Amino acid sequence: MAYLTLRGINKIYPNGFHAVHDFNLEIQKGEFIVFVGSSGCGKSTTLRMIAGLENISKGDFLINGVRANEKGPRERGVAMVFQSYALYPHMSVYDNLAFGLTLQGVDEDVIEQKVLKTAGILGLTDYLDRKPRALSGGQRQRVAVGRAIIRKVDIFLMDEPLSNLDAKQRVTMRSEITQIHRETGATTIYVTHDQTEAMTMADRIVVMKEGYIQQVGTPYDLYFNPVNMFVAGFIGEPPMNFIHAVLKGGKLDIKGNVVDLRMIADRDVLTRYEGKELVLGFRPEAIRLMGKADTEKAYKISCTVELTELLGDNTNVYVDIQGIKSILKVEPHDSPELDTKLDFVIPYENVYLFDKETERRIKLKG
Ligand code: ADP
Repeated sequence: MAYLTLRGINKIYPNGFHAVHDFNLEIQKGEFIVFVGSSGCGKSTTLRMIAGLENISKGDFLINGVRANEKGPRERGVAMVFQSYALYPHMSVYDNLAFGLTLQGVDEDVIEQKVLKTAGILGLTDYLDRKPRALSGGQRQRVAVGRAIIRKVDIFLMDEPLSNLDAKQRVTMRSEITQIHRETGATTIYVTHDQTEAMTMADRIVVMKEGYIQQVGTPYDLYFNPVNMFVAGFIGEPPMNFIHAVLKGGKLDIKGNVVDLRMIADRDVLTRYEGKELVLGFRPEAIRLMGKADTEKAYKISCTVELTELLGDNTNVYVDIQGIKSILKVEPHDSPELDTKLDFVIPYENVYLFDKETERRIKLKG
């Protein structure tokens, strides 16, 4: 049996706005689940319904198979970290961290040990005597995370906990939170708009758009088997390239570059879409430069180099295929000159096709 069950969950705010539609999800004990999607897609609303901070308009929320819709936040055994967490302003960092344990009547020595360990993990050791007002935004946020992780709870809920941190701190905290999750084993639901956070931290990701779940899956699943253009474009950085073209005689003509879909798709698929506009998708990193690749089972595309960005471990190359813009990822020492012609190939297995009308992925075989 699933540990947490969300069955047909809907949220309609008092002003009539329908923020979450028919949300269905089963979460196993100890899983690290990430809700990801653009701002306003309903992630926080769903998290707050799980926390018991927002009532559920329709549907059932079950903990261990028992309906918990009416239970308060405390009864649910959750600890939550918000984007802007209100710390106790008159208390030091030490006391803010210790507060929950003190309330539980935990031994002073044990509290001290836990506070020091938590402060160490979060880089707060030098600030234990300070009051929150004497901390930076990022440091306050770390105290908030610390307050949640110091207590032993069954369910951690985190709402964009890293958004006030700088890029370097984010990377560190990402692995710290993953590590803490591994150590505590607490079932964790984490909200973010950042696909990198989702990909690096989650056991399973829930991609949302405009109040609807788009897809639930492991990071690997979502990256390699996106169900639609939204997920394909949301997961991966830089995002997947999309090229629109009409299917004629089983082929897509991309400005003189012939993409013969008969090589990769079943006949009935091609028949169904003949004469219709399709969207060809390929990831920037899924291409090979001509001359460096086996061109046997690959489509050849010619383009012009418009811009390059050397990032260190790779170079993003912004190209123009006679008016169609795409991004390619290449090795730094393969960085091409600006305004030169570039030929690349997309291996057959790296090609995605989408139905332009529904934006759903087209299954190429059987
Ligand atoms: P996310 O966390 O994905 O950014 P939210 O769950 O915060 O999105 O919000 C989802 C949608 O619900 C947004 O359009 C937001 O404006 C709306 N919303 C949030 N809170 C309320 C409220 N109290 N009343 C009406 N609409 C709300």
